[in-house]
Amino acid sequence: MTQQLTLALSKGRIFEETLPLLKAAGIEVTEDPETSRKLILPTNDPAVRVIIVRASDVPTYVQYGAADFGVAGKDVLLEHGGEGLYQPIDLNIAKCRLSVAVQDGFDYASAVRQGARLRVVTKYVKTAREHFASKGVHVDLIKLYGSMELGPLVGLSDAIVDLVSTGGTLRANKLVEVEHIMEISSRLVVNQAALKLKRERLQPILEAFEKASQANA
Ligand code: ATP
Ligand code: MG
Repeated sequence: MTQQLTLALSKGRIFEETLPLLKAAGIEVTEDPETSRKLILPTNDPAVRVIIVRASDVPTYVQYGAADFGVAGKDVLLEHGGEGLYQPIDLNIAKCRLSVAVQDGFDYASAVRQGARLRVVTKYVKTAREHFASKGVHVDLIKLYGSMELGPLVGLSDAIVDLVSTGGTLRANKLVEVEHIMEISSRLVVNQAALKLKRERLQPILEAFEKASQANA
């Protein structure tokens, strides 16, 4: 019997940028998640289906084996912790950086030098805590789920930790990047049990992904 495979993806850039990799593996998603209301999408291969979940939920579906494999940003994987996940390939897609930003005019460097306690809003509490601890910066972290840029503008915080690609959103809100925490890209994650039990089925797909993703490096 053919082994069934379930791939977890999030809508938007990860879905779009994974399509060429799937194509390299001979897999084509036959419905568009932007117009379909289905959460389970068929592919041209009856043994492969795609589930559409929140970006931050991808590691959870794969960890518990509800999906055999998935695509998730390094930002999301660091917050999740990676338990139960095998992470064989950096797909070099959805590239951006995780940065600290403040309101234009706020002297971050001098606040840090003076040992001030900074309030920081972020969706990435764990990664931010580790970053500031490693630099010896005192922070109070406030968890938000979106629109981090608003924090400093309305007095909720002194700084934000968020993903930046072009910097357009920061500029539009008069914020400036003051510290670069790390480069971010998306990884393939595979359920550890599936890797053993479905190796025959997964291996050629992993190889095709690896080869195709080198073009993005
Ligand atoms: P949700 O919308 O479900 O809350 P999200 O906003 O994190 O989740 P996306 O904006 O689609 O979802 O981002 C998914 C992933 O894409 C992120 O985890 C990150 O790795 C990457 N990403 C986010 N923003 C950018 C960006 N501006 N440029 C490139 N990649 C990005
Ligand atoms: Mg989003």
